[in-house]
Amino acid sequence: MDEVQGVNQQDRTTAGSYFVSNYPPYSFWQTSHAPAAHAALNGTPAPGTPLGIYVHIPFCRKRCHFCYFKVYTGKDSSEINRYLDALIRELTLCASKPFTGGRKPGFVYFGGGTPSYLSTQQLMRLVDSMKQLFPWDQAGEIAFECEPGTITQGKLEILREMGITRLSLGIENFNQQILEVNGRAHGEREIETSFRSARAIGFPQINIDLIAGMMGETESNWKDCVRRTIDLSPDSVTIYQMEVPYNTTIYKEMRVLGASSAPVAPWHLKRHWVDYAFNELAQAGYSIASAYTAVKHPERTRFLYRDLLWSGADMIGLGVASFSHVRGTHYQNLHDFEPYIETLERGELPIWRACTPNAEERMIREFVLQLKLGRVRASYFQNKFNVDVLSRFDGHLGTLREQGLLAVEDGWLQLSRDGLLQVDRLLHGFFLPQHHEQHA
Ligand code: SF4
Repeated sequence: MDEVQGVNQQDRTTAGSYFVSNYPPYSFWQTSHAPAAHAALNGTPAPGTPLGIYVHIPFCRKRCHFCYFKVYTGKDSSEINRYLDALIRELTLCASKPFTGGRKPGFVYFGGGTPSYLSTQQLMRLVDSMKQLFPWDQAGEIAFECEPGTITQGKLEILREMGITRLSLGIENFNQQILEVNGRAHGEREIETSFRSARAIGFPQINIDLIAGMMGETESNWKDCVRRTIDLSPDSVTIYQMEVPYNTTIYKEMRVLGASSAPVAPWHLKRHWVDYAFNELAQAGYSIASAYTAVKHPERTRFLYRDLLWSGADMIGLGVASFSHVRGTHYQNLHDFEPYIETLERGELPIWRACTPNAEERMIREFVLQLKLGRVRASYFQNKFNVDVLSRFDGHLGTLREQGLLAVEDGWLQLSRDGLLQVDRLLHGFFLPQHHEQHA
């Protein structure tokens, strides 16, 4: 790509994780701390704490070259059915634990992988079992990720009948060649068909995912993607900036070639493209709701999974390599298919590693995650953690203010657009010193 030429080293996209999804960083979660996760599940919940369920469906038609998730592309239906049995076993074990405290889930999220890869029969069996264990009648949101090429009219109808409220379509790009170069399974033609079918069925919220800076991306194609997104008029649009973590196919090819930077757009260009998209979406009536999202009707388009998790909700993550957060302890499940299933077949929870943050780390976690929304209210941290974030973070906040990336007004810490577009890079400045180096 022409734009990659002549950019400075810091601007190049090098291998590694950029996106901050939790705190303390995963490299500080320990297998020796797993008993703390069992202890958390065996205690009672703090009053008023919401509960959510995340379900990981780790199957995809093919592996995208930029994918860093735990996914499998060659599993047959008997292996998938065995995995679904394990998911139901895991939920059954969790449902019997005191941490539930009689709560029903406030949100449910089906992520992956590709949840829509499951057949309608598999989906119905999974969802029926889940509802028997944890009724969904009090859930404000049931979110479901789809890959456009796996959607059929019948499957969409079943999903709507199941109560899915937020359907998220992983479109990423509208250009056939770019989809192919990046290893996506779906094609350009399947995008409009799947979106229009979903719209006709009447899901309350349809989200479109895009990625800025995929391999082969150009200015004119990106503008076309943004225009076509607006033409479809989704309820929300989520835009990620392309990153190249170590366990991706792109990184493996970089190693073979001895390349130090990835063949994707540099950071300034990705930020420019997200900025362009946000401006166009704003002109079309959307509101910018976070560093990654624009929503059409902010008064009624919410994203409970994100907002409740980022403000301390409990969430059990079912599935191989899934992440949970229960009563202040984070834990992750075993990260390989067979050990995950075999552990459940023995009747044990498949907990692999855990981390119990102290009070300061819990405060930092919520601060950095909520800053990704673009603004945080200082009084929230005073009330919840008895911490004055303005003085606790005065050094890094001062630097951000001098650079024009953040302002403080009426008790709110507000990122500028420039700050919002690079928020994940800025968040490391709020980490404790011992967490600075290992943020992958
Ligand atoms: S569809 Fe998503 S989870 Fe599946 S391989 Fe592609 S990026 Fe990974």
